[in-house]
Amino acid sequence: MNSSSQAITALQKAFPDNQTFLRGSPEFDELNGSYLSAIEGDIIPAAIFRPKDKHEVSKFLHITQPYTSNGDVKFAVRGGGQQPTHACANIQDGITLDLGMLTGIEIRDSSVSIAAGERWGAVYERLLPLGLATSGSRSGKGGIGGLSLAGGLSFFSTREGFIADNVINYEIVLASGDIVNANKHENTDLLIALRGGGNNFGVVTRYDVRTFKQGPLWGGSVYYFTPSFPSQLEALVTELKKPNATAETHLMLSIGYAAQFGQTMCQNQLYYTQETETNPPVLEPFTNIQPQIDALYSMRKLNVVDAATEQTGDAMERQRTSYMNTVIRADVDALQAAADIYTAALEPIKTVEGLVCSLTLQPYPVSLLKKTAEAGGNSLGLDPANGPLVSILLLTYWKNRSDDEQVFQVMNSTLQKIKNDSRVRNQTVKYEFMSYAASFQDPIDSYGAENKIKLQDVSKKYDPKGLFQKAVRGGFKLFT
Ligand SMILES: Cc1cc2nc3c(=O)[nH]c(=O)nc-3n(C[C@H](O)[C@H](O)[C@H](O)COP(=O)(O)OP(=O)(O)OC[C@H]3O[C@@H](n4cnc5c(N)ncnc54)[C@H](O)[C@@H]3O)c2cc1C
Repeated sequence: MNSSSQAITALQKAFPDNQTFLRGSPEFDELNGSYLSAIEGDIIPAAIFRPKDKHEVSKFLHITQPYTSNGDVKFAVRGGGQQPTHACANIQDGITLDLGMLTGIEIRDSSVSIAAGERWGAVYERLLPLGLATSGSRSGKGGIGGLSLAGGLSFFSTREGFIADNVINYEIVLASGDIVNANKHENTDLLIALRGGGNNFGVVTRYDVRTFKQGPLWGGSVYYFTPSFPSQLEALVTELKKPNATAETHLMLSIGYAAQFGQTMCQNQLYYTQETETNPPVLEPFTNIQPQIDALYSMRKLNVVDAATEQTGDAMERQRTSYMNTVIRADVDALQAAADIYTAALEPIKTVEGLVCSLTLQPYPVSLLKKTAEAGGNSLGLDPANGPLVSILLLTYWKNRSDDEQVFQVMNSTLQKIKNDSRVRNQTVKYEFMSYAASFQDPIDSYGAENKIKLQDVSKKYDPKGLFQKAVRGGFKLFT
């Protein structure tokens, strides 16, 4: 019997309640097929283990320790399974620790405690009737873990900061099996490390996230044609650089291609986070574009649950998916060059079956960057003095495995060209957002040498034997 089979047998004995799903069983197939990206589901672990609470996570680490401590048996930690980075939350021939049964949402005075298996949509639904909201994924289906351990933008990030900066306490099971909290009073070095450090320190079982009063928003989408994109870039940069820019907007601009349109098209996803009965003037430069596709105009008054449901609907499930990203300064010429490089690169892959792709721009306004210091700090290494910044995401969906190589090759080289161009223009910042990073990227390195060393020191302190480096290979590691 190999080590992996021995570890699985030990789990089956310790948890007789049928929580260990073996390769080939219908439950296994359903769980392994439920990642956002079909590429993640191509990875076939030997077993999927589903703990019901934090004590079972701790017991899992104890039971598997004889097999995992030397890196012989590998395991993956899965939250919502929504991150397309190859093998970040699944492991070939190892054991996938699926946190989907850790459920529970508890509303406290000024925060909400969220178990690791919940989805953001469920959190928004609980908070809505109380006139409250929190900083989480714009997609209701997004898992709590990925973003809360990476940074992340919410509808409210211009006003409230990164999602990770809003986590005031992480409950985490360490490699030793000990269950500890990381907050501003205890294990504060671990709190800062977890805000950006990914799955390197343990299995987080609960996130306590700040809540705030929130009424209805104004938002939705506007679809238009490529000749208007340059003026939209100018409007975006003008808004971001206004000294008195409001913190109540959340703006996303995309240029992309979908077979359904048969041509390159543009989309603005726009939000104003205060209640209003009509389109606010600050959004007019982004909504009044002519010509546009009137039938797809969806700007309206809506609540957070509606907004998150609409974002979920925009995602394509069980397609082959690739995300990769870079972040640059908010500079019109550099952004325009990125869009030009991108649209030119699409030509050879437009015939790929099921291709839906976009270059999506998501700003990091100065107000967002400044919130990090107020929140006590994170590991991302972003200096507000460099802001405003714009995250450039290359997002691609397609249908068939046989097209993987071509799509990856085109997208990888496009990202490199965009990075080179912005470097020449002196608009580069050394930061990659972990949740949008492809496996060949190195977001931890992008946080800067000082932050990387701090993260390594925290790992040595809380995981001295390096279990989450040796046995959890997916995601982005600290010592590579
Ligand atoms: C439709 C859609 C909308 C999105 N919207 C946004 C958005 O609004 N803002 C934004 O910033 N990003 C957004 N993203 C990115 C997405 O939220 C991230 O990819 C996020 O990482 C997904 O979280 P997850 O828990 O589902 O990830 P998973 O794929 O389960 O895990 C991602 C990584 O986190 C680790 N991890 C997860 N949970 C834990 C845990 N409890 N303990 C330790 N490690 C853990 C995993 O090991 C893995 O390495 C969106 C993506 C999609 C597809």
